[in-house]
Amino acid sequence: MTLDALLDSGRNHPRRGFLKVAAALAAALPARLAAGLPAHDGSRPTPDGAPRHPQPPRVDGQRLNAILRVFRQFGGTDDGGTTRLAYSSEDIAGRRYATQAMRQAGLEVAVDLAGNLIGRRPGTDADALPIIIGSHMDTVPGGGSYDGHVGVAAALEIALTLHHHRIELRHPLEVVIFQNEEGGKTGSRALVGRVEPHELDIVTASGFTIRDGITRLGGDPARLEEAQREPGSMAGFLELHIEQGAILEAAGIQIGVVEGIVGIRRRNVTVRGAQNHAGTTPMNQRRDALVAAADFIRAVNDVATGMDGRQVATVGRIEAVPGAPNVVPGEVRATLEIRDLEMDRIGRVFAEIEGRARAIGADREVTIELDRFYESLAAPTDPRFRDIIEASAAELGYSHLRMPSGAGHDAQSMAELGPVGMIFVPSRDGISHSPREYTAPEDITRGANVLLGAVLALDGVG
Ligand SMILES: [Zn+2]
Repeated sequence: MTLDALLDSGRNHPRRGFLKVAAALAAALPARLAAGLPAHDGSRPTPDGAPRHPQPPRVDGQRLNAILRVFRQFGGTDDGGTTRLAYSSEDIAGRRYATQAMRQAGLEVAVDLAGNLIGRRPGTDADALPIIIGSHMDTVPGGGSYDGHVGVAAALEIALTLHHHRIELRHPLEVVIFQNEEGGKTGSRALVGRVEPHELDIVTASGFTIRDGITRLGGDPARLEEAQREPGSMAGFLELHIEQGAILEAAGIQIGVVEGIVGIRRRNVTVRGAQNHAGTTPMNQRRDALVAAADFIRAVNDVATGMDGRQVATVGRIEAVPGAPNVVPGEVRATLEIRDLEMDRIGRVFAEIEGRARAIGADREVTIELDRFYESLAAPTDPRFRDIIEASAAELGYSHLRMPSGAGHDAQSMAELGPVGMIFVPSRDGISHSPREYTAPEDITRGANVLLGAVLALDGVG
């Protein structure tokens, strides 16, 4: 079966035989992509492995964007988006394809105890710490085809480029595909020992608990703590990602040099009042949990808006119990999320919201509990890495801009192990977590070349 036939059969029969097609693709495609590809400038390596031309290597943009198109075979939807929930069959099929691509790039592939997929390439210096590149392949439900994918495809493409140009690095190189980024960065947080035992019981969007999901990916939830790595055990981590905002596009800038990633505090909110008959309970005798929740939502917005700074606070989910038209809701379950570049500020916003929740509880005769759900630390990127990324972009002749990241990323967890850097490429209309998410192929190629340049620079100095 040819590649095109494979792609067509996947399109025409999205359900029937999907996994068979996916498996066949995984087996067939990398060979085609990687076989005998010329270098970017048409030159071939000389027999002794040294490139004939001394100019710095570039990624193969066509191959890179082809890899991204293949990713869409695993959970791609007709509207251009992708739903590849962590731990789902699509996730597993996508990782199987990535495994094949890693092998094509000469990487030694393993799944760690946390279920992260890792491809390793040795360095020439036995004492050098690994340079780690990568991102995630899982999506939110109804998600896009670029968030995370771009960083994974670029990392795979860089490994392929190094392999086919026979470029040896002094440092070992690791390509990491982190698991369950969208559900709370489980994979990268496990590497820094921040996944708490209760999280394993959380049911993710795929319907699997994190515990079952880790097992499905080939990890071992019972030995999760052994997945933890030592601080200082890497030379650095570099992640290419779509911006997910509209700053680069609006400014007409090609490359974002990320200054830091905001911290996130999430709480499960439970409002408890009294469930009662909606027809017979007078208004002045109600302890309506949903009305109190409405006050709470307004308070969250007021607190975040009322303080100086760039903090954001959101109630993103709400559910009334029992949820019937003729019943005064006795309980409401909701979520609270606060983000900022400074953890102190997150703490101040949270304290203020807690105070408002107590006042609302007293006023409405309900209780409002804010249970710990998830927390990730704000992470400034390494100043030296910012310079390296900036220099890489400048050398390639790309415009660049320093900027913060309002979205959470695996790089944030990795910052606990050593220096990290992040590269952003523009998102059309700033849209993300939507099928309308889009980044132009040439922007993706530019980002991958900046990443490659940064890896080579880091290898030279680190
Ligand atoms: Zn992402």
